[in-house]
Amino acid sequence: MSLAVVRRIAGPVLHAARQGPFSLREAVRVGPQALLGEVVRIHDDRIVVQVYEDTTGLRPGTEVHGDGQPLSIRLGPHLLGRIFDGLLRPLSGTDSAFVEPGLRAAVAGRWRFEPAIAVGARLSPGAVIGEIAGIGHSDASGRRQRCLAPPDAGGVVESVLPAGIYADDAPLCVLRLGDGTRRELAMSHAWPVRQPRPVSRRVPSNAPLVTGQRILDGLFPVAQGGKAAIPGGFGTGKTVLLEALAKGSNADVIVYLGCGERGNEMAGVLDEFPTLTDPRSGRPLMERTVIIANTSNMPVAAREASIYCAITVAEYFRDQGLHVALMADSTSRWAEALREVSGRFGELPGEGGYPAYLSSRLADFYERAALVETLAGDSGSVTVMGAISPPSGDFSEPVTSHTKRYVKAFWALDVKRAQARFYPAIHPLQSYAEDAAAFAPWWAAQGNGQWLALRQRFLTLLDEQAQLERMARIIGKDALPARQRLTLLCAELVNEAFLRQSAFSPIDRVCSPARQAAMMRLLGRFVDLAEAALAAGVEPERIAAIECMRALQRMGEDIADDELPRLAELASRMEREFAPLLQPTEAPGASHG
Ligand code: ADP
Ligand code: MG
Repeated sequence: MSLAVVRRIAGPVLHAARQGPFSLREAVRVGPQALLGEVVRIHDDRIVVQVYEDTTGLRPGTEVHGDGQPLSIRLGPHLLGRIFDGLLRPLSGTDSAFVEPGLRAAVAGRWRFEPAIAVGARLSPGAVIGEIAGIGHSDASGRRQRCLAPPDAGGVVESVLPAGIYADDAPLCVLRLGDGTRRELAMSHAWPVRQPRPVSRRVPSNAPLVTGQRILDGLFPVAQGGKAAIPGGFGTGKTVLLEALAKGSNADVIVYLGCGERGNEMAGVLDEFPTLTDPRSGRPLMERTVIIANTSNMPVAAREASIYCAITVAEYFRDQGLHVALMADSTSRWAEALREVSGRFGELPGEGGYPAYLSSRLADFYERAALVETLAGDSGSVTVMGAISPPSGDFSEPVTSHTKRYVKAFWALDVKRAQARFYPAIHPLQSYAEDAAAFAPWWAAQGNGQWLALRQRFLTLLDEQAQLERMARIIGKDALPARQRLTLLCAELVNEAFLRQSAFSPIDRVCSPARQAAMMRLLGRFVDLAEAALAAGVEPERIAAIECMRALQRMGEDIADDELPRLAELASRMEREFAPLLQPTEAPGASHG
């Protein structure tokens, strides 16, 4: 193992004189506590090391030992249901944002293994070796995980253990590799965090990740395997939205990264998640969740590494043929860690003080989101959703503007909407979804063949509303022509009935695609009927006064996913109430222009 001696210490960054070869990105151990670090620069006789733990107390002269391999994490059955720090070391409890210095070991545990291979079989890299089931763990529900050969190990099976209970690092199977050497495989294996795990191929995605949030699924869908950014100023609802997505989306596995947010904000997640029930299975949500927490009081360099750890964990579950959603809160804090560490290296700051490689690092991260065919031949995906906290809510700052280049869905949280307590405070005109048209066939298969047309119609209404409201502020709403007052009426109903959705309403915190489709059709029909009434000479104010208006506005909160017949009843009631308005009338004041 190579050795270096510390010469200079600048916070989390060490400069050391080397006495042997080191490679870039090699993991190192520093001092008697064996603090974990990584080689980030190599000069002739000097290395620069970023240390992931508290460096107070280190002195020049301290020894640095090379690991001979890149910074890696252990991937295995121990991950689900647990809370880790930014380097994937177990955090013991919610109040202990604390890991013993130098701790490296993953959670030890025993699982039941059932082999799916026999001696003599030829195993390709990443192939399935067997199944793993929990025994008395939080995953005792029988949720099975797959035991995979690491993506870099293929060969002929020389031996394999029978079904039984084993430790996660016990050798289960011996492979003879192509070059004649042997390799032992266990339930878990190590993987370097900065290296994307290989796949057979990337596949274009034409299904959305179903989020259960109407404004997202209906107007700004993200692909399964896609990437979305959630920029928003303080208190606009980023964390509440990410949590709602963790609870309500149709992902099989949730990886929740709390990155650099204050401890008390993270405490909400840490306290709440273990108490949540999975709406799909009725079992604890934690059974399919991994939480990675690097709060603002934890070492800053570990925050830089935490997003790579999180996405590596997500890829590991993807490789088991699962659909994974990764929520990162917040990528701005990650970028700030990058900036702080870069400053310690003495690098020249660029835009906003961030290093020039901010953009390429963001790209490296978001690029790892994908729908893929795995090495084992299954379909799996990682969808990434990253919150951004731009200082003073300014979306032109570097992290937001660079992130925009790499994401397909942009969910902009708006301070004004949040102040008006209109939640989720996603601004329908600042947000976008580049892939939306690709999901029309998926929605047609859900019984909503009109989805794309209705989406377009809603967006047009919302756009017209913004322009008309500007006008109304100048000349007064009553001075607008009837046609425009009707547009405002319809847009307000779309906002109120469809876009507004409380994360805290038991009925409405998640909305199924079937209910969304029924609500979209109902509102589309309302717009048709209202236009027909207008054409028949009815004033918009008369339309606004129809009896079922209140029921329409409140249908999200009132009618649950399993009560779709009630939505059909509401639709018939609306038709009945409109019927008298559709007869041509001589009503006084029926002129419109
Ligand atoms: P941020 O993470 O952007 O700073 P939060 O997610 O913590 O903001 O949200 C701030 C507050 O706004 C929450 O405590 C909650 O009261 C309210 N809020 C945000 N989103 C919603 C929502 N979807 N439904 C109801 N209330 C919400
Ligand atoms: Mg927050």
